[in-house]
Amino acid sequence: MDFYKNTLSNMQKSAKIMKLDSEVLETLSHPQKTLIVSVPVRMDDGSLKVFEGYRIQHSELRGPFKGGFRYLPDVCLDEIKALATEMSFKCAVVGIPYGGAKGGIKCNAKEMSQGELERLTRKYVQAVYQIVGPEHDIPAPDMYTNSQIMAWFMDEYSRLVNKYQPGVVTGKPIEVGGSLGRDSATAQGGVYVLQDYLNTLDEKDRKKDYKVIVQGFGNAGMHAADILHGLGFTIVGVSDSRGGLYNAEGLDVQQVIKDKKTKGSVTECNEGKCLKPHEILEQPCDILVLAAMENQVIEENMKHIKADILLELANGPTSFEADEYLNKKGVVIIPDILANAGGVTVSYFEWLQNQQSYYWPLEEVKVKLKRIMQESFARVNKFQKEYKCSMREAAYISAYDRLEKAMKLRGSGANLRCKIYR
Ligand code: GLU
Repeated sequence: MDFYKNTLSNMQKSAKIMKLDSEVLETLSHPQKTLIVSVPVRMDDGSLKVFEGYRIQHSELRGPFKGGFRYLPDVCLDEIKALATEMSFKCAVVGIPYGGAKGGIKCNAKEMSQGELERLTRKYVQAVYQIVGPEHDIPAPDMYTNSQIMAWFMDEYSRLVNKYQPGVVTGKPIEVGGSLGRDSATAQGGVYVLQDYLNTLDEKDRKKDYKVIVQGFGNAGMHAADILHGLGFTIVGVSDSRGGLYNAEGLDVQQVIKDKKTKGSVTECNEGKCLKPHEILEQPCDILVLAAMENQVIEENMKHIKADILLELANGPTSFEADEYLNKKGVVIIPDILANAGGVTVSYFEWLQNQQSYYWPLEEVKVKLKRIMQESFARVNKFQKEYKCSMREAAYISAYDRLEKAMKLRGSGANLRCKIYR
């Protein structure tokens, strides 16, 4: 099943459970705006290459559009649609005053020079600047986009509108309006939710030593391994796009991070047995942290998953079929729209700090993030008990509850739709 169909299936299933007004489901099943742009870039060898870029604004029922943009060779409209839709639900789950959006450019960022990436980013801003802005749509990092790219984005946008606008984008470097704690926010938010979930378990179900595998060693995965290791969890496996590393006794996480940073891959570390990228998912562990990308736990491998708990730090890592199968088996899945919402929550803090030109200490960011994640988990938990459903279904219900109220209060003007094509 493709990613967008997957998202729609999750939405429909939860809507049915809570008997949601069909007009709310119908409205949220269509993004408000779709923009497709051509991004011409002068490459280092002197040639001109035209890349395809997207920005999809799904819903602004609860506030300005919000969501990252990614640079990937096979990014497509349906993938961005799914991610934009999930952003609306994610922001509603944690109750931050934003709608959802997502963007992307079809390109191979890994093979581009810094100069090419800068020109690509600036051209993309020139193509989308009329529909973004601190009060309209606020992009952020996602796969293969980072704080440097956000700095270029902010600079180009500020130039185009002729005023300093740090709040147009989040995930910026600290020196140009970023927030302390944004780097580790996705992982930290997920860990707060995981800890809260573990605290709901009876004494007899609670283990002393949880064995954890982290799939994906980008921003979310690396920080998750580091934070969990620091809390006393045993990290038995990690992986990146090149392969996996497994050691049933536990890995020295600091060494793995060092090797990843200096040698480019976790497979360069001598700490454990090297595996093919997908094999890591099937190794023995208690908690599997999915921090790579969408569609990783699918029909083909779902029967080989050994973990009791899945923590979805990536967006859409579990397919609809695999989700149904694992739920029946009793595996607990902490769903993406809750588990990885720490990232956009600290993006919200960054935007608030930009609006006020007043910057918070790290401690304040952490305390506020913890409170939001704990309240959001408690609310999802309440809906889960009320509807006797999975945590994913309860998270969607929790979001629908807020989205529906906003829609009813704002009236029919709120769901005006329009599409822009190039
Ligand atoms: N790309 C991240 C996500 O999928 C962060 C979005 C944001 O901070 O706006 O949640």
